[in-house]
Formats: sequence, structure tokens, C-alpha cells
Amino acid sequence: MIKRVGVIGAGTMGSGIAQVASTASCIVKIFDLNQGALDKAKTSLEKILTRLVEKGKIDSIEKSSIQNNIRYVNSLKELSDSQLVIEAIVENLEVKKKVFKELEGYVSSECILATNTSSLSVASIASSLEYSERCVGIHFFNPAPLMKLVEVIPAIQTSNEVLKTTSETIKSWRKTVAIAKDTPGFIVNRVARPFYGEALRIYEEGIASFSEIDSAMKEVGGFRMGPFELMDFIGNDVNYTVTESVFTAFYYDPRYKPSFTQKRYAEAGWLGRKSGKGYYEYK
Ligand code: NAD
Repeated sequence: MIKRVGVIGAGTMGSGIAQVASTASCIVKIFDLNQGALDKAKTSLEKILTRLVEKGKIDSIEKSSIQNNIRYVNSLKELSDSQLVIEAIVENLEVKKKVFKELEGYVSSECILATNTSSLSVASIASSLEYSERCVGIHFFNPAPLMKLVEVIPAIQTSNEVLKTTSETIKSWRKTVAIAKDTPGFIVNRVARPFYGEALRIYEEGIASFSEIDSAMKEVGGFRMGPFELMDFIGNDVNYTVTESVFTAFYYDPRYKPSFTQKRYAEAGWLGRKSGKGYYEYK
């Protein structure tokens, strides 16, 4: 039974993952280099849980216990007693490898080290470790507390035991597990690339506007959000980086070619909801 969980990165995903694990009664330590990110994660959890209490989904005792289960820490070393650490920092292979290598010096040899990467090779991240069989991908979707599906990705180095413990742990957190091989984009992000890419191409060819494309996909396609709403929700910077990474990893297969429109939006800081402007305006 995994009881002590470490989370690295208190951004969009790390803060959500910490909430999921603490709701499942784990003791969670969350670390971020940036104190502001830790403060923001704490404040936003308070808001989320208050809303859940107001809606009658949890009571105030549950709210306190979820909050009390989470410690916000300032050094990686403080994760040393974890049985499972989930990394959710910037999507950069070299940075992730460096953090995993340092982390291995603090935790016990049994501790499972997981990455929430969307598009990088888990095998490559695992290669930074002395005991690479303990490394696995645990890919949550945004927002982690609401999205049921979690992809679990064994690298070629991952032991069967680590895969089994990881899958059982994630299921015990009331998530649905899909095991996928360690290939770029795994399942959902690979299928999603042409969804965003083709929508951007339709816009670039002047066939329809953002809102026309979104509305068509929602009304006829049955999607809850259109591709542009979804890109604004995820963040154009994050979404563009994933597309570029999948495109490169598939040896520049044109099916996954990134879009200049999205690149310019990301460069302009028109990131979507989080910056107040993306394909739409957010007040
Ligand atoms: P984010 O930018 O919201 O948060 C990243 C956090 O990591 C920041 O708070 C930053 O200060 C911190 N950080 C950066 N380097 C660090 C380091 N060396 N040590 C400790 N903290 C560090 O990013 P995010 O959207 O939460 O994405 C995190 C990871 O999850 C990425 O690998 C991303 O690909 C993946 N992911 C993102 C989504 C999504 O929809 N945003 C979905 C699934 C997976």
C-alpha cells in the first residue's frame, strides 16, 4: 500500500495530482522551486474544496483532512520518505533527468519514481537513474481531480512489480487506468494531435473561424469542448510544446506538424485562459 506520496511541481498538474492523492488518504509532500507556485497551489485548493463543500460533495471534516494531508515543502530532500514520487515539472527532458538523478540520492531504493510527462520518452527519463526499473510514466489529464482516465506507461526498463503497484495505486485513487507503451503522445495525446492540428489548418486556410470550428465540433461531433476552447484551456505554450515534441519524436511525420498560428500565439503570450487571452478573451 502506497501511503506517502511526493509530488514535484506545484503547477496545474502537480497541484491537481496532490489533491487526488490526498483525497485518497495519502500523506502528500509537494515541492516546487518557486514559492509563489506553492502558495498559489495552497490557495487554489482552499477555493476548490470550499466550492465542493458548498455543493455538498464533501463535508468540512473531509475538506480539513484533504488539506491536512498535504505539506508544501521547499526542498527536494524533504521527499525522502516517499514511497511514490510523481514529477510534474516543466516538459524538458534534460531538466527532468537532472531532477530524477538528484531525487534518487534522497529516496529509498523501493520508492517508485514516476513522471507525468505528456510526450517525452519514459525510457530516456529512466536512464538518468541507477535503478531505472523503478521508473514509470503516470499520465494524468487536466484537471487531474476531475478526469477519470490515467495512462500508465511502463518504460522498457520498468519492472513488472513497479507496473503492478503503480496501476493498483492509481485504481485505488478511483481512476481508470489505461496501460500504454512508451511511444510519443501515448494514446490520448497522439489521437489529439490531428484534432488540434487539423482545426488550426482549417482556420489557416480561411475555411472557418475559431468559434465556427468549435461550434461544429460540439454540435455535430458531440465534443464537450471545441479544439480552440480546449487549446485555450490547456495553454497554447504547453499544447504547442507537446505537438512539437510528438512531431520530432515521430521523425517529422507530417501528420503531427505543428502550426505557425499556435506558435505565434504562444510567443505573444496569448496562452489561453491562464493569460486572459488566447483564441478567445477571458475577463
Ligand atoms: P506548469 O507550468 O503549470 O507547472 C510546472 C511547475 O513546475 C511550476 O510551478 C514550476 O515552478 C515547477 N518547476 C519547474 N522546474 C522545477 C524543478 N526543477 N523543480 C521543482 N519544480 C519545478 O506545468 P503543468 O501544466 O503542470 O505541466 C507539468 C507536467 O505535466 C509537464 O511534463 C506536462 O507536459 C505534463 N502534463 C500537462 C498537462 C496539462 O494539460 N497542463 C496534462 C498532462 C500532463
